[in-house]
Amino acid sequence: MTDIAIHDTDTAHQRLRAEVRELCDRFGSEYWRARDRERAYPEEFVRALTEAGYLSVLIPKEYGGLGMGVTEGGIILQEINRSGGHSAACHAQMYTMAALLRHGSEEQRRRYLPDIARGGLRLQAFSITEPEAGSNTPEIRTTAVPDGAGYVVTGHENWTSRILQSDLLMLLARTQPLPEDPAERAEGISLFLVDLRRIRAEQPGTLVVEPVRTMFNYATNQVWYKGMRIPADSLIGQEGEGFRYVIDGWNAERILLASEAIGDGYWFLDRAIDYANRRSVFMVESFAIADASVGDGEVLGEIHAESWKAAYAGFFEPAFFAEAVRHRRGKWHDVLAKGQDTILLAARAGRPLTFSYFGSSPTRPGWAEIFGFYNHPDGWGSGSAAALMVASLRRLREDGFGGVHLWTLRDTPQSRRFYTKSGFTESGAVRGHDFGDGHPIEQVEYELI
Ligand SMILES: Cc1cc2nc3c(=O)[nH]c(=O)nc-3n(C[C@H](O)[C@H](O)[C@H](O)COP(=O)(O)OP(=O)(O)OC[C@H]3O[C@@H](n4cnc5c(N)ncnc54)[C@H](O)[C@@H]3O)c2cc1C
Repeated sequence: MTDIAIHDTDTAHQRLRAEVRELCDRFGSEYWRARDRERAYPEEFVRALTEAGYLSVLIPKEYGGLGMGVTEGGIILQEINRSGGHSAACHAQMYTMAALLRHGSEEQRRRYLPDIARGGLRLQAFSITEPEAGSNTPEIRTTAVPDGAGYVVTGHENWTSRILQSDLLMLLARTQPLPEDPAERAEGISLFLVDLRRIRAEQPGTLVVEPVRTMFNYATNQVWYKGMRIPADSLIGQEGEGFRYVIDGWNAERILLASEAIGDGYWFLDRAIDYANRRSVFMVESFAIADASVGDGEVLGEIHAESWKAAYAGFFEPAFFAEAVRHRRGKWHDVLAKGQDTILLAARAGRPLTFSYFGSSPTRPGWAEIFGFYNHPDGWGSGSAAALMVASLRRLREDGFGGVHLWTLRDTPQSRRFYTKSGFTESGAVRGHDFGDGHPIEQVEYELI
C-alpha cells in the first residue's frame, strides 16, 4: 500500500491510474532489480505496456492510438516510476510524437503511426546530442547532405538512447552550414524519421552503435553515422526547420519527464514511510495482528465501547451517549457472524488493544472504506494503532483495492493527526453524520491511494 495520496479530480484519470498501477504490479521490485543487475532492457515490461496501448496514448484515434493528451501520458509515466519501474525504457515513444504529429506529412503519419500504435513498430530513439554540442544544439556537426534521391548522413552523436531497441529513429542533422548571423543559428537544421530496419538490412556498416555504461540501467549509446543514406521522404516537414520542430515538443517532454520525477518522489516517500512504520528502534513490544474470529465479539465490543467513552463523550447528551456505548459493546457478535468485511485485531502480550474494520466502499468503486478503527485507551501511545494501520493497508493492497478512504469526526484532532501520520490526506469532502440523536455531527473524509 502506498502511503501518499495523489488527487485526480477526474474519474477517468483515476481509472487510468488504477489500470496502469495494476499492470505495473505485475512487474515488482525483483523484476526491476534483476534488469538492473543484468543491465538488461525491460523487454517484457515494454511489451506489456505496448500491448495494453499505453505507449500509443498520444497517437490520435484515427491512427489507432488512444488519442489522449499529455495529462494522461504524464499519469502513465508517473505511475510506472511510482511503482519502482523505469519509464525511461520507453518514454521517447511519447515525446517524439509532437514533432511527427505536427510536422510530419500525412503520408508519414499513415505509414508509421498505426503500426506504432499496434505495437508492431517502436519509435523509441532520438538522436540530437553531440559530444561537443550538448545543450548548444545549433552547434551540432552531424550533417545530412542532399544526394540524389535522399541524404547522406555523417557525424557522431552521443547519448542516443534505445537505438538498439528501436525500429525508427528521429535524427537531427545540419542540412546547411551554421549561419554566421547569431540570430539565424537555429536555421539549417533538419529533422528526419529514419527507418532503422532498412539501414540494418541494407547498409549496416554505415551505422555504428556503442553502448555506454551509465551509473544506472539506461540503454544509451554513442552513435557514428558513416555516410548513412536515407531517402528524401525521411525528412519531417521543411528542410532547415528541424530545430523548431524539436523545440515544439519540449514542453510536452518536460511535463512528461517531470511526471516521472514526481513518480520517483512518491516511490521514495512510500518506501521511507513504510520503513519508518515497520522499524522498531526503541519499542521493545511487538504486536500480534490477526483476523478477528467469530468468538471475538466481546473483545471488539470492549475496545469499541472503551475508545468511545474516552474520545466521544463530549459530542452527545449523556443519556444518548450511554445507550450508544452500550450498543457498540454488544453489536460485534452479529457483525462477525455475517463475516462480510474484514476485521483485523492487534494484541500486545495476548491483550487485544486495537481493531480495524474495512471492506468494499459503497461510494467509491474499486476502493476500500475503513468503517471503523478503534484503539482501547490502554493501548494509546503503545504503537499498536500504527502497527495495525500498516497491516490493514497492506491487506487492502493484497485484496486488490485501488485506494482507501474513511470518515472521521472533524473535531477529533488526535484521530486526524493519526490518519495524517499514516499517510492519509483530506479529500476535502465534508458530511454531517447523524449517530441517531437527530444532531448531525460534521465528519471529514480522508483518503489514500
Ligand atoms: C542518461 C541520458 C540519456 C540521454 N538520452 C538522450 C537521447 O536519447 N537523445 C539525445 O539526443 N540526448 C540524450 N541525452 C542527452 C541530454 O539531452 C544532454 O545531456 C543534454 O542535452 C545536455 O548536454 P550535455 O550533457 O553535453 O551538457 P552540456 O550542454 O555540456 O551542459 C553542462 C552544464 O552546463 C549548463 N549549460 C549548458 N549551456 C549553458 C548556457 N548557455 N548557459 C549556462 N549554463 C549552460 C547545463 O545546464 C549543464 O549544467 C541523454 C543524457 C543522459 C544523461
